[in-house]
Amino acid sequence: MIIVMGKEVTEAEIGAVVRKLEAAGLQANISRGIERTVIGAIGDERKLDPEMFTPLPGVESAMHIAKQYKIVSRESHPSDTVIDIGGIPLGGKAVQIIAGPCSVETQEQMDLSAQYVSDAGCRLMRGGAFKPRTSPYAFQGKGVEGLDMFDRAARKHNLPIVTELMDVRMLDTFLERGVDVIQIGTRNMQNFDLLKEVGKIDTPVILKRGMSATISEWLMSAEYIAAGGNHNIIFCERGIRTFETAYRNVLDVTAIPVLKKETHLPVIVDPSHAGGKAWMVPALSRAAIAAGADGLLVEMHPNPCEAWCDADQALNPQELKNLMGVLKQIAQALGRDL
Ligand code: PEP
Ligand code: MN
Repeated sequence: MIIVMGKEVTEAEIGAVVRKLEAAGLQANISRGIERTVIGAIGDERKLDPEMFTPLPGVESAMHIAKQYKIVSRESHPSDTVIDIGGIPLGGKAVQIIAGPCSVETQEQMDLSAQYVSDAGCRLMRGGAFKPRTSPYAFQGKGVEGLDMFDRAARKHNLPIVTELMDVRMLDTFLERGVDVIQIGTRNMQNFDLLKEVGKIDTPVILKRGMSATISEWLMSAEYIAAGGNHNIIFCERGIRTFETAYRNVLDVTAIPVLKKETHLPVIVDPSHAGGKAWMVPALSRAAIAAGADGLLVEMHPNPCEAWCDADQALNPQELKNLMGVLKQIAQALGRDL
């Protein structure tokens, strides 16, 4: 059972619900989000009835949710959640394309990238300062220095920044630097301690799908973040591992409508890490938006041949611009905008 409290809820009203749950022999998980506070019942729910809670002051609704994921489930919140990222809405009518290099390299590369991302009409920018690399001998990212380069470049164009957090010890640095969206990469989708920590803040989180994760495992990982009180979660499908070796990963387009049915939260797609080759990116991007994705996370480099990381899959600036034009038409055909 979850009990959804209104936006203006008071501590006394939350306390009354918690006491009622405890009197019935259950415990409460209180998840304080920006839009709503959700109280989850922990224990034998069969003793509970929604009517025990709905008359209490401050209670918006109470419902049994059979699934393991509750706060993120569509059942708990039938309408689409729109996440506000520094004034840019994600999850609503407007499709958002988040573009930028795989990794932050130099100030010049970031300045150029930000210029191209903005010129193409994108409203958010990506770039990794801390890189999860398969080989310990590969470039690991510029670290904190990279965050500063990214910030300087993106602010000039009012582009909110999206960057990956791998180590919880860096969380305060991310917050001090004003990172707008924290990306949790595929390799950390089930790093539950990391998920719990980003659950305690309200910075939006892009939760990438683990490369071998089922939809249900992915939703449960999001529930970890939501249970802590951070309801600003964006799912990102980035391709999964299968027997196929002709491309880097298999873009699971089916995941888009399935997630849209299961959760009220926005769903975006990373066509770059799915295909692994720049020439595949436009086709995968078109498919993603046509299937109902709320946006894309796409790699673009001012000079892909010279990229320090994921050079094969980076679009060049002109390719990004062309892609934006095509995606706008697809979005409009679906009654959306870009
Ligand atoms: C990335 O977006 O740069 C990245 C490392 O992605 P993933 O976690 O999906 O591999
Ligand atoms: Mn990459």
